[in-house]
Amino acid sequence: MVRVSYRPELIGGHLALDLVNTVAWRLDPGRAVDRFTELSNVERWLLAAGVITDGGVVTRRLRDDLVAARDIAYDVLASLAIGDRPARAAIDALHGLVSEVVRSASVEVSPFGWRADDPGGVVRLAVWRLFEDEDLGRLRQCGDDGCGWLFLDRSKNGSRRWCSSADCGNRARARRHYQRARDESTA
Ligand SMILES: [Zn+2]
Repeated sequence: MVRVSYRPELIGGHLALDLVNTVAWRLDPGRAVDRFTELSNVERWLLAAGVITDGGVVTRRLRDDLVAARDIAYDVLASLAIGDRPARAAIDALHGLVSEVVRSASVEVSPFGWRADDPGGVVRLAVWRLFEDEDLGRLRQCGDDGCGWLFLDRSKNGSRRWCSSADCGNRARARRHYQRARDESTA
């Protein structure tokens, strides 16, 4: 089997959503893949996202922290993205995460703001900021049945349907095309 090295696709429009999207094909149990299973992929993701500038900092513990934050965030965001009310337990878990993030962050005076020195803290602060600062009315789930990636639709008319028009969007277009051709040939 040829192993293609992981190239993070940062399409979420927010660091916290790019974190959540490190599980690919989440809605298709036969295909779902957790990119963070390998520590080298965690490093690739942190570098691509600009959280770290040098390699060699990723430990198992950091990975586990990121995965825990990711899964807590996802449980709430996945519901919000499709207009559902998140489960109470999911909200409680998020509350726990956010409380811990704020407690462990330092506060800088100039420029004023909450800061974290370690990569895990930076990413967990981003989760807090997503919920605090962003208009989650713009949160969407990719229109593909299996993809499950989440993003903020920052388009003016709120019309973005796909994680990537070149990827899931293209596949959907190809499927429609194929179906039309088949319908015409059986008509
Ligand atoms: Zn997609």
